[in-house]
Amino acid sequence: MLQFTFLGTSSGVPTLTRNVSGLAINYCKSKDWILVDAGEGTQHRIQQAKLSLQHLKAICITHVHGDHCYGLMGLLASAGMNARKDPITLIAPKEIQQWLEVTCQFTELFLPYPIHFIDVNTLTSPLQLDAHISIDAHHLHHRVTSYAYGFKATQTQRKLNIEVLNQLKIPKGKLWGDLQQGQNIEWNGQSILSQDVLIQNTQSVYAIVGGDNDQPELLSNACQDVALLIHETTYTQSILDKVGAGPMHSSAKMVAEFAESIQLSNLIATHLSARYHDAQGVQSIGDEIAQYYHGNFYIADDFDQYELNMHGELTQLRSGKPWEK
Ligand SMILES: [Zn+2]
Ligand SMILES: [Zn+2]
Repeated sequence: MLQFTFLGTSSGVPTLTRNVSGLAINYCKSKDWILVDAGEGTQHRIQQAKLSLQHLKAICITHVHGDHCYGLMGLLASAGMNARKDPITLIAPKEIQQWLEVTCQFTELFLPYPIHFIDVNTLTSPLQLDAHISIDAHHLHHRVTSYAYGFKATQTQRKLNIEVLNQLKIPKGKLWGDLQQGQNIEWNGQSILSQDVLIQNTQSVYAIVGGDNDQPELLSNACQDVALLIHETTYTQSILDKVGAGPMHSSAKMVAEFAESIQLSNLIATHLSARYHDAQGVQSIGDEIAQYYHGNFYIADDFDQYELNMHGELTQLRSGKPWEK
């Protein structure tokens, strides 16, 4: 129902194995997708992950730090060179709009498609992006204004009520198909409304993707109905203690304790400092989370892909390096 492809999982700077922040979200089997953050080099990651800029419906920027947005202008320009015409919704701090305007002006960038800019600060109620997904925003705590985005995917399944169809003696075949598609039919001189023979089952699932943040507990209310939280774990606690509170990031322990306190079902940790990019580093982050949190969790690697189904169950579809088709 919601699919997450990690395009960048490094904090601050890219390394050979991990790029800076970028996360693609596909939903409800739609071709459209949403990008959360666009660190430098994200458009290469998009190509490698075989995602199409033509179907990029919305971009959500969590905050203005370069490792979360320096790839945005190039990506928008490339979408223009691919002759995109459809609008892109851009939800971001208002500074991003100013930056976009001066970039267009100073670099003679003429985008052939409209950008619907939404100042994230004004997003006080969920934005219904299309019939299947809505987006909301939650304040975080970081060196600059930072937000988490919530994504609620909704899917309606329509099943034929076989009992009623048999009672009405409607023969299997085209008429059943028409009714299933929501069309009304004529049968035995009688109008049959599809709504009378369909069982509709609407289900939804909600996930939150955090930006940089040193107070995970700020998401307590937002996480009440959440099936998955994706949150930064930049350091282990011992390194955070050495680095000090200045950078305003979370340790694995802080996020794990928060996840445990709200009985979170699924957690994906990301945004690792470069010192954790080897196997030993990832292990130390994982060990620390496991010590304080007993739910299901993963530590994201670039090109990892996860699926959250309509029952709120999270599975890993792909792991690790660029995959071959
Ligand atoms: Zn960052
Ligand atoms: Zn930051």
